[in-house]
Amino acid sequence: MASMEYSIQYRRADALERKNYAHWHAVESMPLADLKKLQEEKLVAQMAYLKERSPFYQKKFSDAGISFDEIRTVKDLQKVPFTLKTEIRESLKAKPPFGLHLAADMEDVIQMQASSGTTGSPSYVALTQGDAEMWHEMNARCFFASGIRPGDMSLHGFALAKGFVGGVPITQSMQYMGVIDIPIGADGGADRLLRAAADVRPRVLAAAPNFAVFLGEKAPDILGVEAKTLGIEVVLVGGEPGGGIPAIRQRIEEVWGAKCCEMLGGTDMGVAYWGECEKQSGMHMVGMDYIITELLNPETGEVIPFEDGAEGELIYTAIGREANPLVRFRSGDHVEVLGTKCACGRTGPKVRCIGRTDDMLIIRGANVFPSAIQSIIGDMTPETNGVMRVVADFEGHTSQGALKVIVERGPDRSPGRDKELKKSIETHLRNSLAFKADVRIVEPDTFEKPGAVKVALTLREYPDL
Ligand SMILES: [Zn+2]
Repeated sequence: MASMEYSIQYRRADALERKNYAHWHAVESMPLADLKKLQEEKLVAQMAYLKERSPFYQKKFSDAGISFDEIRTVKDLQKVPFTLKTEIRESLKAKPPFGLHLAADMEDVIQMQASSGTTGSPSYVALTQGDAEMWHEMNARCFFASGIRPGDMSLHGFALAKGFVGGVPITQSMQYMGVIDIPIGADGGADRLLRAAADVRPRVLAAAPNFAVFLGEKAPDILGVEAKTLGIEVVLVGGEPGGGIPAIRQRIEEVWGAKCCEMLGGTDMGVAYWGECEKQSGMHMVGMDYIITELLNPETGEVIPFEDGAEGELIYTAIGREANPLVRFRSGDHVEVLGTKCACGRTGPKVRCIGRTDDMLIIRGANVFPSAIQSIIGDMTPETNGVMRVVADFEGHTSQGALKVIVERGPDRSPGRDKELKKSIETHLRNSLAFKADVRIVEPDTFEKPGAVKVALTLREYPDL
């Protein structure tokens, strides 16, 4: 059959041919020294672009007394001050809709997305055609790494309705790589999603981890069959911690009878650019030709190398981005480097996300992430139900007292042993995370099961229980 020429490409012309490739793109296995060279070439071009086009960075560089021309290497970037989320918000407010950091002409913007934003109005981000393709390409690399292949069908379990990048861009990227996205969305509800899973029998489910568990557990009620009979082989999760929490991942794999891999990213730079390969030993950086990533030790303020065991916050610089390019953006994501080599051949470092700066509490000087607490409580099933909430009923993020943690008892456990359980959890938390907890045990199912919403692990007031 003669192939038709389209002026607009929805699916890459060669998508289906890539099915048996080792990686979606050859750059994923490129030696790091070559990648660095490529990054620095693109960095020089990006600086020249910002010098000409970005009012935001023109001011920022001039305020800092640095010139764009002197930033030529990854190391040189350390001279540039960070870009903070608060600055992005102010920039958007100062010049709606896409801020002072819009560096492309409005007529070249073809798409926009919104991010949830922790307070008030959402944050908006603009994409040119080139930016959109960059997003699709990085997503495709993540999807492919996790075992998704051209020709698959994927049930869309992330929210579709709110303009988040888990919505339309996921659909576009699946299409780009030759996957048929089933566009129901978390907002479509569990009934509709499970019905589609039964009717269409996709190989892939993509959803937030807590929602993937919820959906799987609902299958017997809604369809009269276990989720694991539906033929899902890959559950791709992201958007909140959970995929990296062993108990949650294990539950997803159990209930769906499928392999669970996770991805990590963020709206300011794309959708996903850290993708976990089928070895399931951390998420690889798969977009090194589009993003320069630095690892920052938040305590010392030093940039540290990506070495096994290193921990820090991810700092991103876009290279080759047109509409809303950012330099040294503080992502707020704290990660641990799990490895720099992998049997899959990808050369990007592997990380797991420990938590977000926004969620971090400082309890008597110890940095504590609620997701880390959840991980430990999750490992204590069946004694616990794996469900917990942290009560941060103090000003700000710092407390000198013990941190209040409410934990659900395991469904088959007797309340008579609560005292013992409380003690054992407090000991575990102290030994693993070096902080003092004041644990209260409550009935199973005290807290609402996750629906389409993300789970907030931290409560700012003590609940009425
Ligand atoms: Zn790998």
